[in-house]
Amino acid sequence: MLYLPTRICFGADALNEAGAYLPSMGKKALIVCGKSSAVKSGVMSDLLPLLDSKGIAHSVFAEISENPDTTQIIAGKGQLIKEACDFVIGIGGGSPLDAAKAISLAAANDLLIDQLYDAEMHQNAYPIVAIPTTHGTGSETTQYSVLTDKSSHKKAGFGCELIFPRLAIVDPKYTLSLSPRISLNTSIDALSHLLEGIYSSMRNPLLYPMIFRGISLIKDNLQTCLKNPGYLPARNALCLASMYGGITIAHTSTTLQHAIGYPFTTEYNTPHGLANGMFIEIIMRYYYPAVKAELDQLFASLGMTMEGFLEWLDAFPIKLKVDADDALLYSWTDQILAARNTVISPVIPDKADLMSLLKSVQKERV
Ligand code: NAP
Ligand code: ZN
Repeated sequence: MLYLPTRICFGADALNEAGAYLPSMGKKALIVCGKSSAVKSGVMSDLLPLLDSKGIAHSVFAEISENPDTTQIIAGKGQLIKEACDFVIGIGGGSPLDAAKAISLAAANDLLIDQLYDAEMHQNAYPIVAIPTTHGTGSETTQYSVLTDKSSHKKAGFGCELIFPRLAIVDPKYTLSLSPRISLNTSIDALSHLLEGIYSSMRNPLLYPMIFRGISLIKDNLQTCLKNPGYLPARNALCLASMYGGITIAHTSTTLQHAIGYPFTTEYNTPHGLANGMFIEIIMRYYYPAVKAELDQLFASLGMTMEGFLEWLDAFPIKLKVDADDALLYSWTDQILAARNTVISPVIPDKADLMSLLKSVQKERV
């Protein structure tokens, strides 16, 4: 079974096409974004006149940081209510899109900060429009929101069907302003999502053509994009791959591949895509015996062996090593093993196995 309640407008005409559906979202939008990307990407200068032309008012909440924390969600909820908005537009990478989803839920259910993850309290949501400006998370087509709780120093996601965006507006030109580093990290995140669609115990062969195509698009376009960041056809391919990754994990969820990276982000500020990238080869080798048939099907479709694929991946600077001692790594193991995405992995490690996976990214100490 496949299910996706998001209307997707993709390509150079995406915003104009979406214009026909915006009035059905509401009369006043809370625009949720980060400090600069909504403007730098060119979305704001295209969107605001369109909203005006449709008679839709707006209020801008530009307070979302990378890895949004729960206090930002409560502040956004406050602004939505004070400004009497009746729908939310998230613009940016996964951080503002996830924040837009959580703000919609928080405001519609009057959630307090410690109720944001409480599924029983998630009864309503304001309509959500998602406009991505990175090509990584696919959040524009998922029901997930990933937040950081600063008080417990934990990053964790939750899923709720009410926060599937009603409308996703994906125009690859909005990613042309991404730096090479963010372009790389976010593409690696998309690659993780696509691979996890194969790894997940909720894997669904109906998704395989999309997964295989998405991985092939990244393989054929990532290097080109990094060498020539202004080359739109490569951005087009990477945005498509990212969206395919989102559609994939909306059905399969992510796995240990994601859960293992979260503590690196909270402890060292490792960007989300890179936190995945540092483990891609390690996790692929760990899972391979359990999903050999599926991975072999992928590599056959790419016309490569697994070693050839890993050699291609080696060209990118993603094998980050960290100066973490054993005690710190061990202190993360309970949290990783308890994560909702760890339990749907094809192999669920015990603590000893998990420690050896974690230790493989440890810097050698002299
Ligand atoms: P991000 O954290 O949203 O943004 C990273 C940086 O890129 C920010 O500094 C941002 O600037 C900048 N940026 C974004 N678009 C830009 C553009 N077009 N031009 C120039 N700069 C731009 O990055 P992300 O990797 O897309 O999102 C990561 C988050 O998404 C993580 O919290 C991750 O856990 C979550 N995630 C969610 C899902 C899901 O399904 N919901 C899936 C995977 C990951 P600003 O600060 O100005 O915005
Ligand atoms: Zn991700």
